[in-house]
Formats: sequence, C-alpha cells, structure tokens
Amino acid sequence: MNANEPKEHQDFIRQAVQRDRDAGKHGGRVHTRFPPEPNGYLHIGHAKSICLNFGIARQFGGKCNLRFDDTNPLAEEQEYVDAIMDDIRWLGFQWDELHFASDWFDRLWDDCVRLVKSGKAYVDQLDPRKLRELRGDWFQPGADSPYRDRPVEANLELLERMRKGEFADGEYVVRAKIDMAHPNTNLRDPAMYRIRHARHHRTGDRWCVYPMYDWAHGQNDSYEGITHSICTLEFEDHRPLYEWFIESLGIHAPQQIEFARLNLTYTVLSKRKLLQLVKEKLVDGWDDPRMPTIRGMRRRGVTPEALRAFCEHIGISKFNSVHEIELLEHFLRDDLNRICKRRLAVLDPIELVLTDWPTGKVDLVDALENPEDPSAGSRQVPFTGRLLVERDDFRDPAPKKWFRLAIGQEVRLRYGYFVTVHSIERDAQGNVVRLLATHDPRTRGGNSPEGKKVKGTIHWVAQEHAIDAEVRLYDRLFAVADPNDVPAGKDWKEFLNPNSLATRTVSKLEPSLAQAKPGERFQFERLGYFIADDRDGRPGALVFNRTVALKDSWSKLEKKLGPEE
Ligand code: ATP
Ligand code: MG
Repeated sequence: MNANEPKEHQDFIRQAVQRDRDAGKHGGRVHTRFPPEPNGYLHIGHAKSICLNFGIARQFGGKCNLRFDDTNPLAEEQEYVDAIMDDIRWLGFQWDELHFASDWFDRLWDDCVRLVKSGKAYVDQLDPRKLRELRGDWFQPGADSPYRDRPVEANLELLERMRKGEFADGEYVVRAKIDMAHPNTNLRDPAMYRIRHARHHRTGDRWCVYPMYDWAHGQNDSYEGITHSICTLEFEDHRPLYEWFIESLGIHAPQQIEFARLNLTYTVLSKRKLLQLVKEKLVDGWDDPRMPTIRGMRRRGVTPEALRAFCEHIGISKFNSVHEIELLEHFLRDDLNRICKRRLAVLDPIELVLTDWPTGKVDLVDALENPEDPSAGSRQVPFTGRLLVERDDFRDPAPKKWFRLAIGQEVRLRYGYFVTVHSIERDAQGNVVRLLATHDPRTRGGNSPEGKKVKGTIHWVAQEHAIDAEVRLYDRLFAVADPNDVPAGKDWKEFLNPNSLATRTVSKLEPSLAQAKPGERFQFERLGYFIADDRDGRPGALVFNRTVALKDSWSKLEKKLGPEE
C-alpha cells in the first residue's frame, strides 16, 4: 500500500480487505454493509461504522448496502427507518442496495427447513427456565434437551405448525444442533426461531415466527453477497456460529471482522439508554441538541464534514477505549472557522452611549464576512451613538491585565471606533445599567491612523437596529467523563449535568441576521459558532443554538495525544 496514504487508510480491516482483493478472493470484489436495527435513531457510534463501511467500499471501488435488521417486530418502526436513511445521506453517503432482513424471511425459513432436513437443527419445546438451565454457563457444560433427537419428519411437521400459528409464544423454538458442551456458549444449540405473535412494521401479520439475530444476520450477509461483514467486538464470540451456519448451508461465505465500538466522554452511546432519556423526558427528544444522536448533533450545528474528519482521525482498533469529546469539538471548530460567516451578537446586553456622537447619525461600517475566506467579501453594519455591548465585557473596578471596557480605558469596537468609557450609571441596587463613553472619530473601521494601539477589541450592536433572538447555550450532557462507569449502586442518570439545560438568553443581534435561514450557521464574533434552529425557530422569532464555543482546548489535548502522524 502507498506509504503516503493517510494512516486511517491502513488500519487492520483495510489491510485485510486489501489482502483478500489482491488474492482474488470473492473474485476481487469488495462489498460491505451497514446493518442498523430500526429501533432508535443513529448516534455518533453508528457514524463511525457508517464511515468505515461506506469508506471501505469507496476506497476499494466496491459497494456498500444499507440493511435494516428488522427481525424484532416489537421494537421497530417505520419512523426510525426513514430517519436512519435521512441521517446516512446527511453524513454524505449513499447505499448501493437497500435491503431489509424481513425481505429475506422466506429464504431464511427455507434454509432453516434445509438444516432441519439435514439433521442440523431441531424443534425444541422447553420453557425458557429449563432452556437456560440446560445451557450451562461459562464454567459448566450444558446438557442435551430431551427433544434433541426428535426424528426429522416430526421436526418438519412441528415447523409447519409453528409457522401456521398453531402454538403460543414461547411454546416451541427451533435450535441449531451443534454441541451442548461447547466451551463457547454461543454454540450450545442456539435458538434460530422463536414464536412471536406480533405485527411487523413491514410484513404485517404474515409471520408469527421470527428469526433470531444470529441466525438472520450471517445469512443476510451471504444472500447479499457481502464480502466483509464488519461488526463490533462483542460479536467476536459469535463468529464461530456465523461461520457454522454458513458452512452448514454451503452458501457464499463473507468474512466477519470485528472492531472496537466508539465511546465518547460525557455521553452515553447506547440506543437503550438514549431511549430512556427521551422517554423519561430528561432531554427534549431524540433531536435535543445535547444528544449524541446524529439528529441531535445536526440540530446542534455539527457538520457532516467535521463528523467524518473525526471518525477518520480516531481510526479503528481492536481495543475498547473512550475518546475525548474535545477532539470532536476540535474538528468542528476547524470546519466551522472555514465556512461560517461572522456576525455581531450580544447575548447579555448592557447599554453603551457615546456622549459625543452626533444625534441621529447612523454610520454604516464595513465588516468582513469571513477573514478566513477573502472571497466572502464584507457587509455593512449600522453603527450609532446608542450601542449594546456584553455586560461581561465591562468591569469596575478593572482587575489587573483587564484590556476590555473599564473607566478610562480605550478599547476597539470591532469594525467601529475606538471608545473610552468616562462614566457609568447605576440603579438603586448599585448595578451598572449604562456606560457613557466618547469615541475617536479618526479610528473609523477600528484602526488608528497614527498607529495608536489598544489591547482590547469587543463586539457590539446598535440598539435601534438590533433584532431580538433567543440564544440557547448548551453544555455537556453528563457531569462525569464516563457515565457508563458509575459507582456500584448508583444510577447512570444521576450523573446527568444539571446545567446542560440550555441557558436561554434574550439576545440582540445585528440586523442582517433577520434573514438567517433555518439551519444556517454563523460565528458570533468572540462568542462561538451558532446555528439557526430549524425546529423551534422561524423568521421573526429566531432561535439560535450554540454549536461550540470559540475557546479551543485542543492545544492541551494535543500534548496528551502526541504529535499527529
Ligand atoms: P446500540 O447498542 O446503541 O443499540 P447497536 O449495535 O445495537 O447499538 P445497531 O443498530 O444494531 O445498534 O447497529 C448498527 C451498526 O452500527 C452495527 O454494525 C454496530 O456494530 C454499529 N455500531 C453501533 N454502535 C456503535 C458504536 N458505538 N461504535 C461503532 N459502531 C457501532
Ligand atoms: Mg444491535
């Protein structure tokens, strides 16, 4: 492989794919798949798997399927199917073939009948407790069911009756006939079919027997001609079973390869847990901007480019680890800095009055759209004698090394003028309510002709021209870095960050933001990156979500992570 290729293109899975292709295995074809269960929304862990599967297909000129693993009728819904497709496209990928495990139900059943005929599977009729008991455990071998040697003819008859719906849920199961003493408990006659009288979101009432995951998954891979079936580490112990089924059927054999799941600090990545947060209303739905779901991240303002760059950077490994959310934020800032238009916005306003400003004068000053992108040009922002600035940008008395607003200290109003506060007004409680200042007319545009220097530059808006908006500031969903690892006896939900709830501020924005379209992203100068919310906001009643603040904790992290290759 070319040594100049980035390191993510040389991970152990890609090396295995490359070897197989070079050896002409599967006729040199590369065909992967992404197999979500439509029982929830995708999260950033899935994004890693999507980038990997679609990325490999792209890199090797192969194909990648989207397959919905819809074998459990109780948990699955069309709503999730639609959302998953939408999220994959948003991430920038398009599947070559779309499949549903349920489209293979007939063929799976026929193959099950085949295994029964060849004596490799049987119908059992033990209650769940007995089944568990006979299975043994890690330390003890299991024991054969008394029905294990039922004649093939009798099995076939029971199979037919199971399918016709003559039995109740749990009365019978179909099991593979492997080895009840096998050291790998997955091979102790695992269940292939269970009876479940439930309506399926696609096949309706056609079936009352549903395949187990282990039985469906590998066969679906095989039927679709998948060459490399990439899954997470917890399926490593299932690989011998995956191979046993395929070998027993004598059908096309994909290679299962496992990699470590993505874990991220300050969040949980399990659909089960995320569903709990939604159901218990601990968050505001699957698309709450604090959620690690793709939906949530989209609303938060994360870009697909940043998400892909993050997934590529962390690469894949055989060892479970937890990645720092700051790394994702680093890629996010990197992308947003490049693409976002700059705007002036004041989140917690205090009045700044220029006592020497000509009454009624409105000065349209030029402001750069994006200093990173000269082609983006500039816009005009109204500057007047009645301004609003950030309350936090003024101090009285001023601490040491304070370069922002303070009595007697000259500062630059970005793109505007140099100003100096000369006095302040307080309310009855002593709170500062108004700053009175003068400006230097020679510093228009924010530069001094004599090269006079000021150390502080702050943002502002003109009071009469500013528009109102609600701005939501989000913080980490959890207060602890690893909410999956909480002290015994504690519930993980106790570690939710009570301050992750959006701080809502009634903010003042420069007038051009009145045209902001839902989903449009901006940098509010000195504050961070924001996106116009497309659910709660609308023109005239704008809502902005803070995607990420400007401060980059990356440099600290960089030391910890070592130099990049
Ligand atoms: P969860 O535990 O969140 O319910 P899952 O594995 O049950 O996840 P599926 O819908 O079955 O969810 O997953 C589809 C694919 O995404 C699988 O191939 C799975 O391995 C992969 N995947 C799920 N979570 C992660 C993760 N955290 N990191 C990497 N890949 C993941
Ligand atoms: Mg799953």
